[in-house]
Amino acid sequence: MMSEQKLFYFDNNATTRVAPEVIAAMLPYLTEFWGNPSSSYQFGHQLVKHIEAAREKIAALINAEPREIIFTSCGTESNNAAIHSALATHPTKRHVITTAVEHSANIKFADYLRKQHYEVTLLPVESDGLLDIHLLEKSIRPDTAIVSAMWANNETGVLFPLEEISAICQSKGVPFHTDAVQVPGKLKMDVKDLGVDFLSLSAHKLHAPKGIGALYIKHHTRYQAYVIGGGQERGRRGGTESVADIVGFGRAAEMTLANLKDEQTRVRHLRDRMEQAIIKTIPDTVRNGDRDARLPNTSNISFGGVEAGEILKALDHVGICASSGSACTTGSLEPSHVLTAMGFSAARAQGSIRLSLGIYNTAEEVDYLLEQLPPIITKLRTHAHVGKAAHARSVAA
Ligand SMILES: *Cc1c(COP(=O)(O)O)cnc(C)c1O
Repeated sequence: MMSEQKLFYFDNNATTRVAPEVIAAMLPYLTEFWGNPSSSYQFGHQLVKHIEAAREKIAALINAEPREIIFTSCGTESNNAAIHSALATHPTKRHVITTAVEHSANIKFADYLRKQHYEVTLLPVESDGLLDIHLLEKSIRPDTAIVSAMWANNETGVLFPLEEISAICQSKGVPFHTDAVQVPGKLKMDVKDLGVDFLSLSAHKLHAPKGIGALYIKHHTRYQAYVIGGGQERGRRGGTESVADIVGFGRAAEMTLANLKDEQTRVRHLRDRMEQAIIKTIPDTVRNGDRDARLPNTSNISFGGVEAGEILKALDHVGICASSGSACTTGSLEPSHVLTAMGFSAARAQGSIRLSLGIYNTAEEVDYLLEQLPPIITKLRTHAHVGKAAHARSVAA
């Protein structure tokens, strides 16, 4: 059934299709060159130069030095590792600051840290999803080991002002980590301008495979390994390098950098057209998140009187992949912690869906979505209404 229906993929913040060029670059490292880069003989050792070439491409994507990049298994590991390192290298500092709207990679790690008797401050956000910078500044204490704040929110696309946060952290002498997993291909990235100490990336959000990530560690920043083992990554991350994944990640970084300008404008235009049409043609809809300080590809919209789970099911039926920001684990949708932190009611949060575009989306796909969505909402609202009326009658009876 999956192969019969064309796929309309509007969930690029969840993951992205692996680019054919990336697969082509990876294949030789799965077929012919399957050695271990740590080996002393050529068949293995020759792979080191391909790993280093990929490292250079990832460094170029964010204007870092290659030696400032380590490979990890994913964005989650990169986030955990940065925070872990700050705590391990400052053993007397037991306070961590992060935000209430981070990816679960941070939120759940914060829960874990509390159980280990660390103190964590989760900074609140305003109704537009933005941070109160003065509150951030006031929250920094002498025992704060690290501030971790995402660059772009995966659910709403809202952007935090990294340069401002970075300046505050620098003036207080506190390391600053940012989860930049959502940013490649969407905004220009330059760690020298940003002034961050740590920055996380994940390959599967930029058209490379899942299971490979990177962490930028600013030169001279003290670092304690999180995954401890062999001396790989100059002792900063144990584990035999996933050579094919690393090469694929490098190729994807190179393509992302080359496509940035064109895609940014084209995708932004598609997103704006899609969002404006939805809000204009479907009554009782509202955008979630600041209109301007936002990624160019993401749209998060609330539909009054409907449950996101129902909308997503109906969209899935006609081949459209979208998501509610929150993960649906048991079939019932928990209201998103991001929309809840923005102060929205459970009903508004539960009636919200996220549409996130990418380089492979076309104008025709957006047209198809705009054709399918309005009747779906009308139908669900009619049902919800009939259901409520029936319920009211049965309660009265
Ligand atoms: C996807 C994502 C992650 C997690 O990356 P994985 O490689 O899937 O572990 C972390 N942060 C943000 C903002 C993300 O969108």
